[in-house]
Amino acid sequence: MTKGPRTVALIMAAGSGSRAGGAVAKQYAAIGGRAMLAHAHDAFARHPAIDAVVVVVAPGAEAQTRAILGDEVTLVTGGATRRDSVACGLASVAAEYVLIHDAARPLVQAAVIDRVVAALARHDGATPVLPVADTLARDADDALGDVVPRAGLVRIQTPQGFRVDRLRAAHTAWPADEEATDDAQMVRRLGGTVALVQGDPMLEKVTHPEDFATAEARLAFETRSASGFDVHRLEAGEELWLGGVLIPHDKGLSGHSDADVALHALTDALLGTIAAGDIGTHFPPSDPKWRGADSARFLRHAADLVAERGGRIDFVDLTIICEAPKIGPHREAIRARIGDLLGLAADRVSIKATTTERLGFTGRGEGIAAQAMATVSVPRA
Ligand code: MG
Repeated sequence: MTKGPRTVALIMAAGSGSRAGGAVAKQYAAIGGRAMLAHAHDAFARHPAIDAVVVVVAPGAEAQTRAILGDEVTLVTGGATRRDSVACGLASVAAEYVLIHDAARPLVQAAVIDRVVAALARHDGATPVLPVADTLARDADDALGDVVPRAGLVRIQTPQGFRVDRLRAAHTAWPADEEATDDAQMVRRLGGTVALVQGDPMLEKVTHPEDFATAEARLAFETRSASGFDVHRLEAGEELWLGGVLIPHDKGLSGHSDADVALHALTDALLGTIAAGDIGTHFPPSDPKWRGADSARFLRHAADLVAERGGRIDFVDLTIICEAPKIGPHREAIRARIGDLLGLAADRVSIKATTTERLGFTGRGEGIAAQAMATVSVPRA
């Protein structure tokens, strides 16, 4: 596929968003563990038809926005009204096409971007729309008024796409004392053609507090499972930590940190679900600061990384492989400790144990092995 005209996405995030309640402007509030603005930003940033993304923010919101989107993000400070803010963003755009999108519509499907961009080959602008399904009527002082025929009516969404020169001309020509409902109407007023393309229910605007739950429900999650495996040597004179619990035994595990083989296997399983390397990537055994460290810290770090990705841990399953000590008497303590560390109910933490019939290094009591499986749900990228 050959690349079309240079296309920039302007994400409008300069509103105060007070209707959604809460202290932070709604575009910074989380949906599925990530700021609403980040969902919208990433959808454009990874789309092959989009060459650059510019985020228009309220004065003073720059640091907050960089903290979420990273230092490389291109920011423009907006103005007093939405129209002013679009004009500020537009001034920074060097491209043939521009897509204007509201951050309050976080779940942007690639197919909608495709349709908007494709329509610009033959039109000055394009907007996604949805049909009106409900009967419409006037509110006559809290009594039912006349029905408004819905034939020929559509609901307008964003991203709206434009040929940059046409949108610039529309902004220049627009009367300073008149507020515009959206950019598409401005282009149309100037005699431009604005195509209607099929919108998407995923693009519904998040306005009120209850809309957050609806948006979360729309967010598509995928299930991921990954395994972890670890072995440590049993030696006299060491403490035996297994699954975050100190277990009385005549030997203990030796190695990097407290050598909790069970938590290490579980940490690797969690890191695996988000393809984030392994425990050695994050806590190198060569680094003296991890000597004797509580492995609970490693597990918490892996869980935090899953959470940062917007994911949640659904289930963990651990198998401890040794001849001695017997794990049975400690099973519930280990289960409770891991449940605590991961914020999981007991029925989401499975602890199993087995021997190797006196065969191999575990059978000879030279070491303990552990294998783990973690299942998580993460937002589909
Ligand atoms: Mg280890």
